[in-house]
Amino acid sequence: MDRLRDKIAVITGAAKGIGYETVRTFINEGAQVVMTDLDIERGTATSENFGTSCNFISQDVTDESSWDKLANHIETNFGRLDILVNNAGILATETTQDIETTTLSQWRAVQQVNVEGVFMGCRMAVRMMKGTGGSIVNISSTAGIVGSPMLVAYGASKGAVRLMTKGVALHCARNRYSIRCNSVHPGPIETDMGDALLGLQNYVDGPNLESKWETMRRRIPTGNSGEASDVAACILFLASDDSKHMTGSELVVDGGMTAN
Ligand code: NAD
Repeated sequence: MDRLRDKIAVITGAAKGIGYETVRTFINEGAQVVMTDLDIERGTATSENFGTSCNFISQDVTDESSWDKLANHIETNFGRLDILVNNAGILATETTQDIETTTLSQWRAVQQVNVEGVFMGCRMAVRMMKGTGGSIVNISSTAGIVGSPMLVAYGASKGAVRLMTKGVALHCARNRYSIRCNSVHPGPIETDMGDALLGLQNYVDGPNLESKWETMRRRIPTGNSGEASDVAACILFLASDDSKHMTGSELVVDGGMTAN
C-alpha cells in the first residue's frame, strides 16, 4: 500500500476513465497527485474525492504555456516531480477514420493532443527530473503496435508515442539521469473512449453498445474486456521502483489480443 509513498505525481487527462482510475490507484499507494484535464468542472469535482492527497489543475495538453504553468505549480508547491503519466488522449472521430475519409484537420487534432501533448509532457518531466530521477509513463495503445484500418490518425499518433518513449528513455539513460520512460498499450477498455471506439460505424457488430462489447469480448483471447483499473495497475508498476530495471519498454494490456 505504499509503493509510491511521498512521490509527487502528475497525471494528465485524469478527470475520468483510465486517468481517474490511475489517480485513485496512486493515492492508495501513498502518492501526492496533481491531476490535470481540459474538463474543469469534472476535474474539480473528482479531485475533491481525494482530499489533500490530490489537487486539480486545468490544462489543455496542446497548449505549451499550460506546461510552463504546471511546472511552476509543481516547483512552488512540491519542489520536485517524481512521476509523470502522459494519459490525455483523443480518438477524435464519430465516423470511421480511414485513409480515404480522414480530413487534414481531424488528422492534426489527433496528433496535437496524442503526440505533441506527450512530447511537451516528456520535455517538461526530463527538465524537472534530471537532478533527482523519476519515471515517465506514456499511454499509447495496441493501435500503436498493430495497424488499424479504421483508425489511421489515431494509430499513427500512438505509434509515435511508442517510439518517442524509447527515444526519451535512451537519452535519459545515456546521460545517467535516472529517469525511466516506458509506454503502456491497452486494448479496448470500458471507458467513454472505449464506448466511442465500439460505436464507430462497422467497427464491431451489434444493435447496441452492450452487444457490441459482447462481440468485442469474443474477439479477445481471455474473453474479457479491459477495465480502467487493469491499465492503472500496469501504470503503477511502471511508475514504481518495482520496474526499476525497465526503460524504453512497452507493456501491453489487452487480454492477449495482439498475441493472436
Ligand atoms: P476518456 O475519453 O475516457 O478520458 C480522456 C480524458 O482526457 C478526458 O477526461 C478528457 O477531458 C481528457 N483530455 C482530452 N483532451 C485533452 C487535452 N487536450 N488536454 C487535457 N486533457 C484532455 O479516455 P480513456 O479511455 O480514459 O483513455 C485514456 C488514454 O488511454 C488515452 O491516451 C487513450 O488514447 C488511451 N487508450 C484508451 C483505450 C480505450 O479503449 N479506452 C485503449 C487504448 C488506449
